[in-house]
Amino acid sequence: MSFDQVLNQKAFINGNWVEGSGSKQFAVTNPATGETIIEVSDCTAQDAENAIAAAKAAFKPWASKTAKERCQIMRRWFEIVIEHEQELAELLSTEQGKPLAEALGEIRYGAAYIEWFAEEARRTYGDIVPTPKGDARVLVMKQPVGVVAAITPWNFPNAMIARKAAPALAAGCSIVIKPAEDTPLSALALAQMAKLAGIPDGVINIVPTSDAQAVGNVLTTHEDIAKVSFTGSTQVGRLIMRNGAETIKKLSLELGGNAPFIVFDDADLDRAVDGAVTSKYRNSGQTCVCANRLYVQAGIYDAFVEKFSAKVAELKVGGAFESDVALGPLINKAAVAKVEELVGDAIDKGASVTIGANPSDKGELFYNPTILRDVSRDARVLREEIFGPVAPVIKFDDEADAIALANDSEFGLAGYFFSKDLGRVWRVAEALECGIVGVNEGVTSAVEAPFGGIKQSGLGREGSHYGLDDYLELKYVLMGGLAE
Ligand code: ADP
Repeated sequence: MSFDQVLNQKAFINGNWVEGSGSKQFAVTNPATGETIIEVSDCTAQDAENAIAAAKAAFKPWASKTAKERCQIMRRWFEIVIEHEQELAELLSTEQGKPLAEALGEIRYGAAYIEWFAEEARRTYGDIVPTPKGDARVLVMKQPVGVVAAITPWNFPNAMIARKAAPALAAGCSIVIKPAEDTPLSALALAQMAKLAGIPDGVINIVPTSDAQAVGNVLTTHEDIAKVSFTGSTQVGRLIMRNGAETIKKLSLELGGNAPFIVFDDADLDRAVDGAVTSKYRNSGQTCVCANRLYVQAGIYDAFVEKFSAKVAELKVGGAFESDVALGPLINKAAVAKVEELVGDAIDKGASVTIGANPSDKGELFYNPTILRDVSRDARVLREEIFGPVAPVIKFDDEADAIALANDSEFGLAGYFFSKDLGRVWRVAEALECGIVGVNEGVTSAVEAPFGGIKQSGLGREGSHYGLDDYLELKYVLMGGLAE
């Protein structure tokens, strides 16, 4: 297929490509150039209703297929995505801005969720439990929750969808997906691949829209939606939780993070520097698990800042298709404005700039990789999710100080630390208040591992064998009267 052949313009409802009921479109732009890529159907609340009706009709037939049948169709979906990984990566880079190599990594990462959950579909075992009554047995079986709504962000336009759709389908659920307004094209292309794979009509539906609130309200309040899986800001997460209260929706929420990245005196310095570079600057700092605050112990603080700055100075900023580019543009003007505001606040409160802290001459949405040292502990950049290529580096004295600083946040998604002391590794890993801990590693994501946060970073886990549970209900059946 060519790039143009994976570029879809219409919404995907009940296996058909349809115009929105309002007959309107909205523009999807390339953040690197500001140019419109294509105008996409702008779905309304009515379209969301239609998609839910289609998903409801498709649910029982899909759930009644054997797990092996679902597995085979999903495997085909995985294979087709991999066959077209180059075109899908190009599409992703064009709408989102990340370097092509990173986009290709995301397509493979997203596909790996489809592969993994295709396999897990066949392992939704129940239990038979001994009971105190001799003539009875307790059976526990697992059944799909029903129709799922997914609302996803723009930072991983493919993987965030695969990570929700794959476990939903494996469990036997059908799904309606509202992709982020900045990046609906990768979602539509994934649906296109699903159709080619033979996923039945109505099992996957995609409703792109520029009106997140109208469509989001339907998806999060409709009585035929059993569960909402959301990835995005904590603010919208709260709203979705409130919306779901009336009909007691099951919820998976992957919300904001404020990841601490701690380097102890005894760390392997080069490894810590490499970990900081990838953790901080991947996707131009626009991931919810990006290092947000770097705490470095006093004894190696200056050495760390020096080596880290030298590495970061080598990072090339540019368009996704330039060679050796490490950082693409930020997603939109609001993202650039927020980064500038946080950097300004840190400098006003006494931080000094080691590198960057200015827009790049590559274009309106490009911002240079930035390191701020001696950042005051009350700077906003340590409290708020930066979502940009800015690394504030703060000095700490001892282990207790580091743990207290790291845990001083309402968020609890990812945390990282570097140390070679085995006792410290155990102590700190257990003490950090977050759902994911990277020890001597700056990137932790893997389909085999449970991804998710504690505190106000969310509910539920994605990926791993635990990830399927979020889409399954337990049913307890008491089998009585078994005596002769
Ligand atoms: P970000 O700051 O990363 O864009 P958001 O939480 O605003 O995070 O967006 C994540 C997803 O939530 C997007 O698909 C967006 O369209 C959607 N969204 C935004 N507002 C609402 C809302 N009121 N109801 C439902 N979904 C919403």
